[in-house]
Amino acid sequence: MTTLHFETALLPDGWANNVSVTVSPDGTIGQVIADSNPSETVVIPGAALPGMPNLHSHAFQRAMAGLGEVSGPARDDGEPDSFWTWRQVMYGFLDALTPDQIETIAFKLYVDMLKAGYTSVAEFHYVHHNPDGAPYDDRAETSRRTIAAAARAGIGITQLPVLYNHGGFGGQTPTDGQRRFLNNADGFIQIVSALYAENADNPHVRIGIAPHSLRAVTPELLGDVINALNGFDAKAPIHIHIAEQMKEVDDCLAWSGQRPVEWLLDHQSVDERWCLIHATHMTDAETDAMAKAGAVAGLCPATEANLGDGIFPAVRFAEQGGIWGIGSDSHISVNMKEELRWLEYGQRLIHRQRTVLAGGAERSTGRALYEAALNGGTRACARPIGVLAEGRRADLIVLNTENTPLAGRSGDALLDAWLFACDANPVSDVFVGGKQVVSDGIHAKQDKAEADMRAVMEKLISG
Ligand SMILES: [Zn+2]
Repeated sequence: MTTLHFETALLPDGWANNVSVTVSPDGTIGQVIADSNPSETVVIPGAALPGMPNLHSHAFQRAMAGLGEVSGPARDDGEPDSFWTWRQVMYGFLDALTPDQIETIAFKLYVDMLKAGYTSVAEFHYVHHNPDGAPYDDRAETSRRTIAAAARAGIGITQLPVLYNHGGFGGQTPTDGQRRFLNNADGFIQIVSALYAENADNPHVRIGIAPHSLRAVTPELLGDVINALNGFDAKAPIHIHIAEQMKEVDDCLAWSGQRPVEWLLDHQSVDERWCLIHATHMTDAETDAMAKAGAVAGLCPATEANLGDGIFPAVRFAEQGGIWGIGSDSHISVNMKEELRWLEYGQRLIHRQRTVLAGGAERSTGRALYEAALNGGTRACARPIGVLAEGRRADLIVLNTENTPLAGRSGDALLDAWLFACDANPVSDVFVGGKQVVSDGIHAKQDKAEADMRAVMEKLISG
């Protein structure tokens, strides 16, 4: 049992000073004691917070961040550049990517996530096969690579192998660009069962599934795979991309007569184990029904802005008691502050009001955003994280409060200053399962991660 002492920390009941946190050898929090007397022990200066879960990641896309910013050629149909042209860039990028490269990119990304204050990640992983589209001898090869990368970096991971079998609603034939993603039910369950067998006792790893979208699976396949999953674990998380683009909504209507969220809520038992990624385009009725179902809204404001998706109805969803968390998705940036700030700013711009997600009178917006994202991210990752309390993982971050704009602030004002006024990153120390992985802003393996990533990017760009 080790004990960490913090100058100040955000606990479930609010801010407390002189907080000691005991951590068992397996990385679980034992006791949390406020106003403790840390004699003979080093007190960690700054403000301690629960580490943030990143609930949506496609790690390999970090290596193509910034490559989709050149406008596409003028199109005869007059359509503007969109998500769908970005997707073509992504498919081209996948022509050569190897398992070694997938691991290297994920390792660098996860090191950067830790430095940004994310202590766990839900990896929505869909590049399963080799560049020809044939499965590797070990079908779970690339999933394992992201778990290995997480272990090397020291971040917790919820690995979500993606079920992808079709190129559009109603079981359409997939395109050549999708060949590395495709699995039928049997092939997919082989991956899931292999990962379950290996990681059952690992507190750093959770396994779930991610049906890619209603575009990529048929109702029959979706039902079959969820039934099989329940044989392993009836509480395993299920993530799905749901209503990112208006074209997706229109195609779903043409196929089924229903919108994607409406269809899903009508045809599956959607509850707290579900995380609906990019539920961007919903009617009021869908928004209210999704909130009532308890599914987490997986929001990725930086990516959603980058791809021109649209803006999630966060105010209405929150007013209905909806649970949401944040992810960095395509990793156009790896910056928690940017996700939370742009979530709030998007809503302010729509509603022409301030402090829209503060959730009541005289409440700190920064605190409300941070705690809401902890809560939703914890549910979506399906791991005991997100709160500094007995029985949870000892995943926490410490903000350096010596420099402006944090200097001289305390309590919720620290969160408001960080999320709305900071340009530099104030995260100084990061602990995962009680083990320190970032000290004074530095990850011990960051130079190795950077050098390896640079080599991969040079190779990928040069071909
Ligand atoms: Zn995604």
